[in-house]
Amino acid sequence: MQAVTFEGVGAVAYRTVADPVLTGADEALVRMEAAGLCGSDLHVYRGREPGPDPGTPLGHELAGTVVEAGAAVRRFRPGERVVAPFSTACGDCFYCRHELPARCERGALFGFVSGGAGLAGCQAELVRVPLADASLVAVPPSVPSELAVLAGDVLATGWFGAASAGAAAGSTVAVIGCGAVGISAVAAARELGAATVFAIDPVAGRRALAERFGARGVMPEAAPAAVRAASDGRGADAIVEAVGSPAATALGYDLARPGATLAAIGVHHEPALAVAPGALYDKNLTYRAGRCPARAYLERALALLASERYPFAELVSHRLPLAAAPRAYAAFDRREPGWSKVVFHP
Ligand SMILES: [Zn+2]
Ligand SMILES: [Zn+2]
Repeated sequence: MQAVTFEGVGAVAYRTVADPVLTGADEALVRMEAAGLCGSDLHVYRGREPGPDPGTPLGHELAGTVVEAGAAVRRFRPGERVVAPFSTACGDCFYCRHELPARCERGALFGFVSGGAGLAGCQAELVRVPLADASLVAVPPSVPSELAVLAGDVLATGWFGAASAGAAAGSTVAVIGCGAVGISAVAAARELGAATVFAIDPVAGRRALAERFGARGVMPEAAPAAVRAASDGRGADAIVEAVGSPAATALGYDLARPGATLAAIGVHHEPALAVAPGALYDKNLTYRAGRCPARAYLERALALLASERYPFAELVSHRLPLAAAPRAYAAFDRREPGWSKVVFHP
């Protein structure tokens, strides 16, 4: 099959690799219809994280159709359209039973094979899905695969951010960073009943899109005053930080009212938290962080896409064949204007 493979820092290739085959009775083989290119694919592309073995198919955002199911798979048959979270989960271990499938004892992240062990990615024509019954979710007929692909990471992570930050009925929520995940957090905060959602980003086009999801767009410099003006001078009840930088952490702290929760869903690489322990103490601030338990949000995410209450299709800036991946990675890496969310159609 054809796949997009990791070849080294700054290098991906579109090339032929061996077709995946089922290696266990609980696995399914999925023919890809849509595969997302994600900001976290760039962490290995840029060498900010140790990369997978050269030749590993990349990608962890997937929607497609089951073409083969192992003997122990009960919930899915060939021909069914499915999505998966970005990492598989068993549904049965301590963490899966405690709504933390991202830390499943048997799960694996798609697109990461190291030393020969791990799971190949989905920027490919086919992908092997272990733990298929617990990992896969059927896609409602009205949701096209190109939208369904947003459920397993982008929308799940945004929803996790809004929920972790404590977005609730009547609350004032601030979302820092209006990429696809941040805008998904805007939608989720509104679904959770937030009265006002501020969407904070220096890029005008991103703020404008966030406003189409019901947020109030604001520049980072103007955000503290705008949020206080809307909350009797207190600050935000819930802050979703979807950037992953020390400056974003510091801004989130600035925006928080005493007793607020700051949920960091951006991936951080700095060695220490940008806010001092004493500062957290002085605001009674709760700081939450961590990989999204995406499997726990998949049904909600798909139902929201099916509701058509938000223009999620507008999050996708580019729809491309797999062969365009080297160009897409480079453009995404250089933050070329207009490149926000890429969906490959294998
Ligand atoms: Zn992703
Ligand atoms: Zn598990």
